[in-house]
Amino acid sequence: MLVTLGQDAPDSTRTAVLAAAAARGLRTREMEDDKGGSVIGIGGAPAEDLSTLPGVLAVQPVHKPYMLASLEARGASSVRVGDVIIGAGAPEPVVMAGPCSIESRENLIEIARAAKANGAHILRGGAFKPRTSPYSFQGLGEEGLRHLAAAREATGMPVVTEVMEVDQVDLIAGYADMFQIGTRNMSNFALLKRVGATGMPVLLKRGYSATIEELLMSAEYLMAHGTADVVLCERGIRTFDTTFRFNLDLNAVPGLKELTHLPVIVDPCHGTGRRSLVKPMALAGLAAGADGLMVEVHPNPDAALSDGYQTITPDDLGQIARISRAMLGAMQEAEAAEAGENIVPLPVAERGAEVLAAASA
Ligand code: PEP
Ligand code: MN
Repeated sequence: MLVTLGQDAPDSTRTAVLAAAAARGLRTREMEDDKGGSVIGIGGAPAEDLSTLPGVLAVQPVHKPYMLASLEARGASSVRVGDVIIGAGAPEPVVMAGPCSIESRENLIEIARAAKANGAHILRGGAFKPRTSPYSFQGLGEEGLRHLAAAREATGMPVVTEVMEVDQVDLIAGYADMFQIGTRNMSNFALLKRVGATGMPVLLKRGYSATIEELLMSAEYLMAHGTADVVLCERGIRTFDTTFRFNLDLNAVPGLKELTHLPVIVDPCHGTGRRSLVKPMALAGLAAGADGLMVEVHPNPDAALSDGYQTITPDDLGQIARISRAMLGAMQEAEAAEAGENIVPLPVAERGAEVLAAASA
């Protein structure tokens, strides 16, 4: 059940709602809503009628198995990582970029600088790597986390890195600004509970065989245990088709937006497993309404210690950033024109006028 409290709801109302839930042994979790008030999720139905308490704006039964993550709970939310805003109200889609695996301090700082200069807002890099083969490079561990912190220091960019085990949570919390939960751990409920309890922002990648509902249930685990700041990531799923390592499921982007208030980003590198597909699928993901991208970047992708075949260069990233800005600008203007708010001339017309002016000069 969801109980929405207005901005001016008295503390006595909050206390009464929590007491009614406690009387039935129900779990509760309160989070901010998008109208200045808050919403209390109750994992069941208390006996009392809570709707008559002062300051209660709405009491809704929940029809979905996830509650805090649902669009019924609140309007589109945003997640703040350092100074970077992801989702509602963000100035532009967020770009998380960096190597698949952290390789060395120098290499990471070089990548971080180049990524930032080419449109990245958040630095990514794996220190603990979930590799298909036990003989592949497994990551630098804590040494990698130290390099990540050094790269943050050098660039000012916040950092995100993958956590694979409950025992790594405190260590990683000491270095990173955001946890990444990878596709292989999306349903590791012990990990979700422990990471959620830190209250820190989390990038939750969709399990490659997980349904949209299972993804949202994993987000619910994180939220029920304490973090309000979850960003979902579509990173490709397995299908009957083996042409590509994974298939980026772009239905997930607008589809999730009909179900959840959480920001959604796409990962066109893991989502395709092929470098040549990264740019078109990055642009397609943003056109579908994604709140950002996660991209693997390396100055020499073929020499990267992991996932080089799906890694792009900083120059490629810059191209994606520039083209996506132009594309989204044109889309916004066209949408505004459709909505009858045609105040701004279309960029194509503008460019046309410039060309005419130059030609007649
Ligand atoms: C990664 O981001 O490097 C990674 C391992 O991602 P995924 O969990 O989506 O495979
Ligand atoms: Mn990778």
